[in-house]
Amino acid sequence: MTAKIIDGKQIAEEMRNEIKEEVLKLKKCGVTPGLGVILVGDNPASKSYVTAKQKACAEAEMYSEDNHLPASTSQEELIAHIKRLNDDPRIHGILLQLPLPPHLDESSAIMAISPEKDVDGFHPINVGKMVIGEKTFLPCTPHGVVKLLEKIGAKVPGSHVVVVGRSNIVGKPVAILLMQKKENANATVTVCHTGTKNMSYFTKQADILIVAAGKPNTITADMIKEGAIVIDVGVNRIEDKTKKTGFRLVGDVDFDSVSHKASWITPVPGGVGPMTITMLLYNTLESARNFAESR
Ligand code: NAP
Repeated sequence: MTAKIIDGKQIAEEMRNEIKEEVLKLKKCGVTPGLGVILVGDNPASKSYVTAKQKACAEAEMYSEDNHLPASTSQEELIAHIKRLNDDPRIHGILLQLPLPPHLDESSAIMAISPEKDVDGFHPINVGKMVIGEKTFLPCTPHGVVKLLEKIGAKVPGSHVVVVGRSNIVGKPVAILLMQKKENANATVTVCHTGTKNMSYFTKQADILIVAAGKPNTITADMIKEGAIVIDVGVNRIEDKTKKTGFRLVGDVDFDSVSHKASWITPVPGGVGPMTITMLLYNTLESARNFAESR
């Protein structure tokens, strides 16, 4: 079997066009969705993620405000910036780019973001709402995975979903979203991690396998069931002397072998990645709509 490729780039582009249309409608009513971006320090990967997010905002006709703070920023200064954005009516979503420099406390910074502007879905209030199945801002990468499954027409209800990884930003929330008693969810979910013994016993049972381990080749063809849907969230840099940059990006799944056994598979890059930014735009639009309705 040769797997069909889940073209995240194409799906993301279609969704971004739809979002842009909605933004233009909202603008006619006097509200321009606005994203306040906070980047602390000069981590090159974080800088490039922030640039991509701001570019996507501009393409969707949204307003974005850049708050690039020096690495020496204190916790008090960071919280003051967050509070200013909480109070700014032009800003509907706040994106605090993680990780923060080690002297800063991520948890209290996230807590300082108004839950109504927490478009990353990381505030404990929004996490709690997600867990109990209430409407809220869903975290972008897990929500992007759910949308990809929806777009390819995957039969999620009743299926066995196996998630590899239990981080707060990917593994746990994607497991929670897919186990909800809701349309396009209602799956039986198993979560694997480094404490799991004999992981392939579980991964071989997966109708849908979602991998977010952060390690290349975590999943090889012998670990999956014939015809499984494989979603590779991982993004890893590996050395490649043939590239100008000296590296290339790979996922957590051994694409070459697994793509001969799976029914569908996401490539890396071009699978889950483009959906993450798209869902950030989606949440920012949603927040701006909430603001427009509350005026
Ligand atoms: P993380 O915080 O490092 O968590 C990794 C999880 O995988 C942990 O729960 C860990 O288990 C588990 N794990 C690691 N190696 C494993 C193994 N060999 N077998 C079983 N479980 C294993 O990473 P993350 O933030 O969730 O990100 C995961 C990957 O997704 C990374 O490559 C990241 O770059 C990528 N990512 C991509 C996007 C995107 O937009 N495409 C967004 C976010 C993240 P323990 O809990 O036991 O340590």
